[in-house]
Amino acid sequence: MAEADWELVVGLEVHAHLKTRTKMFCRCALEYGAAENTHTCPVCLAHPGALPVPNGRAIEMTILLGLALDCEIAERAVFARKNYFYPDLPKGYQISQYEHPLCGRGALRIPTADGDREIGIVRAHLEEDAAKTVHAGGATGRSVGADVSLVDFNRGGTPLLEIVSAPDLRSAEEAVWFLRLLRQTIVELGISDAEMEKGTLRADVNVSVRLPGEEGFRPRWEIKNMNSFTFIGRAIGAAFRQQVAAHEAGETLEQSTYDYDPDTDRLTVHRSKEEADDYRYFPEPDLVPVEPPAELVESLRGQVAERPADRIRRLAAELGFESASELGTTGNEWKAEALAAEGVEWKAAAAIAMNRGDFLPENAAALAKVVQANVTREALDEAFAAAATGRIDAETYLAQTAVSDESALDPVIQGVLDANPEQVQTYLGGKEGVLGFLVGQVMRETQGKADPKVVNRLLREKLGR
Ligand code: ZN
Ligand code: MN
Repeated sequence: MAEADWELVVGLEVHAHLKTRTKMFCRCALEYGAAENTHTCPVCLAHPGALPVPNGRAIEMTILLGLALDCEIAERAVFARKNYFYPDLPKGYQISQYEHPLCGRGALRIPTADGDREIGIVRAHLEEDAAKTVHAGGATGRSVGADVSLVDFNRGGTPLLEIVSAPDLRSAEEAVWFLRLLRQTIVELGISDAEMEKGTLRADVNVSVRLPGEEGFRPRWEIKNMNSFTFIGRAIGAAFRQQVAAHEAGETLEQSTYDYDPDTDRLTVHRSKEEADDYRYFPEPDLVPVEPPAELVESLRGQVAERPADRIRRLAAELGFESASELGTTGNEWKAEALAAEGVEWKAAAAIAMNRGDFLPENAAALAKVVQANVTREALDEAFAAAATGRIDAETYLAQTAVSDESALDPVIQGVLDANPEQVQTYLGGKEGVLGFLVGQVMRETQGKADPKVVNRLLREKLGR
């Protein structure tokens, strides 16, 4: 058997920091990047007798996401204590939800080049984040070998949304694509910035393999706290190869937590997996169950706008799947839609939306005129720069027409070719990319007034390709 004979099985557990003003169970302000231990109080430091009060907005945000993922919204959700010791967890337990999460079974239908795939959502619940341990001194920045370990309690008690997918993902690309769409959904609901670099979005990745037709699942490896789409994709690939090799060598795999090392592209065992029972979950006695009123759920349902997956599906009809998905996961598609609505051809509108900054929506009509006219690159740059901050008038820019007159451009182009014999040889040797450099030189010589499309064509003609 070979790798191709095995089926990859991936499930994700995603954590996102909710963008509330205050923490989950106290009134400390949430402020990313604040000086250490400046946002704390008796509740989030777990002083004796301090009592939690749930953040209503965080509950609403969790329900919003549940609705966007077609989850069942619980009529009665229960907070539970998840007990474990760690220096960044002063209570000795995390308040989470266990048997009765706010959001139950749902699904995220992800558009792909070959049609839709439905990825199940097992649950989405609300909990609090732990504080942050900083290991200082030592070479690795990790606990082993550090001189001191310090705790910053600012993060302790941050509202955390946890979304658990079903093990329905079948390739590394699909898992990353699912995650991108989920992230975009979260961002557009306005409930989290969900930035992996800042740690406001993290994913635990569960990977196993099995033979086609096999019932049930083999032991899975869990890769915790991943915060890069690229590394998540690579870690899944590495886990797949290592597990297939192990199964084929007749080894018995254990369910464990693994670390991914990007330098060696390999996973190493971190610790064997604790079972759910180890946490001794029980209902949080200091909090009453959450019973979201039906009217609240309905009003939140009204706040869920067109979801990114739906929009991509719709745009793909105009743009093809690739461009639609790129636009749809960067939040840039409104620009393309605004320009297309003003008559700009869809593909051109999409390219502008990806490559230019934001503009005020009321400038769409003026920009569409400028884009479709034959204006200089400079004028185009100026128009988009001005359109970001105030109302623009197309006439200002339409006057700056680009030089597309061949007889005017010909001597400039010849001059650039004469001045750059080496680049010309490289181009003739097959390096197409050099053309961009030559076009750039012509644009510089003409102070950006040449029409790049004409320059491109003339250069190709002169170089005989
Ligand atoms: Zn506090
Ligand atoms: Mn969690």
